[in-house]
Amino acid sequence: MTSPDYQALLDATVTRVKPLLAQGKVADYIPALAEVAQQQYAIALVTNDGQCFYAGDSEARFTIQSVSKVMTLTLALQRYGETLWQRVGKEPSGTAFNSLTQLEFEHGIPRNPFINAGAIVTCDALFSRLSAPIHSMLEAFRIQAGNSKIIIDKKVANSEYEHRHRNAAMAHLMKSFGNFDNQVDEVLRAYFSYCAIELNALELAKAYSYLSNHGFCQFSKQQLLTARQTKQLNSLLFTSGLYDAAGDFAYRVGMPGKSGVSGTIVAVVPGKFTVAVWSPGLDKVGNSIAGIAALEYLSMQLDVCAF
Ligand code: GLU
Repeated sequence: MTSPDYQALLDATVTRVKPLLAQGKVADYIPALAEVAQQQYAIALVTNDGQCFYAGDSEARFTIQSVSKVMTLTLALQRYGETLWQRVGKEPSGTAFNSLTQLEFEHGIPRNPFINAGAIVTCDALFSRLSAPIHSMLEAFRIQAGNSKIIIDKKVANSEYEHRHRNAAMAHLMKSFGNFDNQVDEVLRAYFSYCAIELNALELAKAYSYLSNHGFCQFSKQQLLTARQTKQLNSLLFTSGLYDAAGDFAYRVGMPGKSGVSGTIVAVVPGKFTVAVWSPGLDKVGNSIAGIAALEYLSMQLDVCAF
């Protein structure tokens, strides 16, 4: 079977999303993100046989925000395996990504690793096993994306830290239930640094290429997770990766994916490719409008089927 013309498909998304770029609004919960110019769009796709395609504002660099939660979980699973699930659940949350109420009812165990509380407790677990937690995460992205110059946007990380009250409240609540081991502010520093890692779309697709490739990153030549763990992680992305719109995304796009408030989405077709898209205009739940439209188009053209 001939391979699809991925480059033509990515190029076509650039034209298709153009009318959408002015829709929605950029994240404004911290000043540093509110300054990002809205009308930008980039997409990149990496196939399991190592081909790379990209289109749009491919030089543009952006912070990955909640998309970092997938790497946090990956590094934590490497170190804890199944025991990690004693501290965080696997169910969709059904409440906002930064909700506190569920934590109170569920004895400090967050619903899943992709809502804030779940990612923060996963960071806490990781923090206990790494001597340089911020550097280790940065190195993971550098090695997997093949760029040793990848940095953390300090302005964004500091701005997040200054406005950390809600995330700090979650961490303290978890601590009150005995589900938090380290200093809250130190773990939050690491968490915000992870969110503020700055990449372009191609680097992001490369860094997460192991998700479509049975856990193997072809760029770093590392087996990051077992094939089974990768399948399990993709299942969690499918049910919980897109904030309160995971169901809608599954219906429209049909790929496991993770979004972040910077307008970033990484999505996966297991066995075939990983795609990263970025466009800062967000819908009401915090997902990129143009990003979802582009992925929906790709999914239709490629007849993607997750089952
Ligand atoms: N740094 C953000 C926070 O914790 C991540 C938000 C997101 O992308 O969902 O609030």
